[in-house]
Amino acid sequence: MKVANVTFHGIGNTGTDVCAEERDVWLREAQFKAVLEVIRGRVGVCITVDDGNASDMEIVAPALRERNMGASFFVPVGLLGQSGYMSKSDVRQLAEAGFVIGSHGMKHLDWRKLNDDDLRCEVHDSRQILEQMIGRSVREASCPFGSYDLRVLRFLKQAGYRRVYTSDRGSASRQAWLQARNTISAWDDPVSVEKMLSKGPLSPDLIMCRIKTAIKRLR
Ligand SMILES: [Zn+2]
Repeated sequence: MKVANVTFHGIGNTGTDVCAEERDVWLREAQFKAVLEVIRGRVGVCITVDDGNASDMEIVAPALRERNMGASFFVPVGLLGQSGYMSKSDVRQLAEAGFVIGSHGMKHLDWRKLNDDDLRCEVHDSRQILEQMIGRSVREASCPFGSYDLRVLRFLKQAGYRRVYTSDRGSASRQAWLQARNTISAWDDPVSVEKMLSKGPLSPDLIMCRIKTAIKRLR
């Protein structure tokens, strides 16, 4: 069975410490809720939320709960508690509320650019720290910036993750270890998201995306 994974980042006011790149994936609260309405009740759509922003706890989780929707939250473990991010206690509360908690590494770095020791810390240590923090096992990870290569995937396998999320767009097999995701950007609205979710696998841009993904997984 195929699923469409969608990714949200920060919601609401961006504040001054949000960089230009991040603003591109930041949604207004009303925009986020309108997109949720498109997703609600749709079979085969999974919600993921990256970066551990404070808005995960303040806006995203309550909106999901109101609509009886689940999600996986991927947090950069080393940034929790810093200004603009969730606290450790927030993450524990999300886990207790039944949301899936996954690792987004320690400090939100590009894993491809790290040496082996730093990469191990990002994927292996972050998982252990997160497990101790929430008192349950952590089985999923998402790659910061959607950046990965064969070596990164090998480290993620060795660290024991059961599922790894990228930002490669398109659909994914529900059981696959590597899961492509579709980022919802600041320019999206209910119409564009509806269109994205109903796109067949043979649309020209998704075919091009698959070719690029295949190259990425081999490099
Ligand atoms: Zn991220």
